[in-house]
Amino acid sequence: HRAKRLRLGVQIYNDRLAYNSTIKVTLRGQLRSALTNNEFVLYYQPKVDIRQKRLAGVEAIVRWNHPDEGLLQPGLFIDLVEQSGIIHAFTRYTLELAVKQIKAWSALGYELPVSVNLSAYNLLDSAFIPFVRELLDKSNIKPELLEFELTESATMVDIAVSRRVLANFREMGIKTSIDDFGTGMSSFAYLRELDINTVKLDQSFIAGITHEPRDAKIVEGIVSLCRNLNIEIVAEGVESQEQADVLEQLHCYIVQGYFYGRPVPASEITINLNGHERLTQ
Ligand code: C2E
Ligand code: MG
Ligand code: MG
Ligand code: MG
Repeated sequence: HRAKRLRLGVQIYNDRLAYNSTIKVTLRGQLRSALTNNEFVLYYQPKVDIRQKRLAGVEAIVRWNHPDEGLLQPGLFIDLVEQSGIIHAFTRYTLELAVKQIKAWSALGYELPVSVNLSAYNLLDSAFIPFVRELLDKSNIKPELLEFELTESATMVDIAVSRRVLANFREMGIKTSIDDFGTGMSSFAYLRELDINTVKLDQSFIAGITHEPRDAKIVEGIVSLCRNLNIEIVAEGVESQEQADVLEQLHCYIVQGYFYGRPVPASEITINLNGHERLTQ
């Protein structure tokens, strides 16, 4: 029975791989039209301050509202976007959407920080900084409401370039964070080399935090290191009250994860904001 089940598992796995690679060929050919038809949409996932019990900000996460396939997760298409040469146009588009949303929330009286995920290629694009500067100029949002999330691998491509680009962001007033922190090969090198505001602890550490003493110890160490360096810390992938309780004991107070909310359309965030006191007068 066991062998049979295993073989069946492999069969299902292969079918899914085959499905994924078939659909990817199709998707690749549709990226450009998706961009011009506004099929990419931003969902927003809450970041919660567990001590103050209030929304600390949101992360903008892209979805592809595909006419035939329905709502697609980024895992299915972000690598295609990055390989296809539309990544520059794509990121500009997501940034414009996020800035519009910051403006809309600000107009309602809510100054809600929004983080946007960048790709490694964006840091290597010399036109990116001028684009961001112009976007900030014409949108008139408070730059500190915008944050860029970068992965360790993105900053690793060229550390000198990354350092320069991050200095430009800081000079513009934009915040920066290292996403999925702890999954790269040289996490600590980035803390040394790069001037960043926030570390986002990868969800793989959080998953074991309640029952793996090692994970808890590692998180504890990263939290105290970040505090000494004056770097904010956000825990990703928090799925239970128990995990949140342990994080609070470890002095990690900003959390993000399904326990607090999945990524949702902006309108759902706005509904929840209406229940909150306004962040500004
Ligand atoms: P990320 O930036 O680390 O985003 C967090 C991912 O973890 C999201 O997956 C989110 O739905 C998921 N997540 C959040 N809370 C939980 C939880 O409690 N449990 C579990 N199991 N998962 C949780 P998603 O939407 O599939 O996004 C995957 C990745 O795609 C993102 O990882 C990010 O690297 C990339 N991505 C998303 N939007 C963009 C974008 O606009 N531009 C670029 N370049 N990349 C993006
Ligand atoms: Mg992210
Ligand atoms: Mg992440
Ligand atoms: Mg992650």
